[in-house]
Amino acid sequence: MAELKENLIDWLRDAYAMEQQAEQMLKAQAARIEHYPKVKARIEQHLQETLGQQELLLGCIERHGGKPSAMKDIMGRVAAFGQAAGGALNSDEIVKGAIAGYVFENLEIATYTALIAAAKTVGDAETVRLCEQILPQEEAMASWLLENLPELTEEFLVRDATPDVEAKR
Ligand code: MG
Ligand code: FE
Repeated sequence: MAELKENLIDWLRDAYAMEQQAEQMLKAQAARIEHYPKVKARIEQHLQETLGQQELLLGCIERHGGKPSAMKDIMGRVAAFGQAAGGALNSDEIVKGAIAGYVFENLEIATYTALIAAAKTVGDAETVRLCEQILPQEEAMASWLLENLPELTEEFLVRDATPDVEAKR
C-alpha cells in the first residue's frame, strides 16, 4: 500500500510540473498574440484555470506529506512541449501554437485520466474529486482549439496574402 501511495504522489508531482509548464506556454502565447483576439482571450481564460489547477494539485501533494518537484526536474520532463509552443521564430506561429496547444491539452487529458484511476485504486476520494473537476477544463480547451483551428488557419492565410498585414501573431 505504501508503494501505491508513492506512485500517486509521484504522479501528482508530475501533474503539478506539467501545469507549471502549461502556465509558461500560455503566458508566452498570450503575450505574443496581437491580431487574433479570440484566441488570446481563450488562452488567457485557460491560464486562469491553469493557476487554479496548480493550487488544487499542490493541496493534494501536501495532504500526502509531499512537496512539488524542483524546477530543473520540470524543465527536463516537458521541454519538448515547451519548444513546440515556444516556436516564436516560425512565420506561422499562431497556427503552430494552436496545434502545439492542442497536443499539450491532450497530454493533460491523458495525465488526469491516469491520475483519477490511480487515486481510485489508492482510495483517495479527494484527489479523484479534484481531478474530475480539472479534467473537463482540459477537454474544453482541447475541443476549443480543434474546433477553431480551421477558421484560425483561414484567417492566417488571408492575412498572410494581404500586403502590409502581419499574419504570424
Ligand atoms: Mg491544465
Ligand atoms: Fe490545460
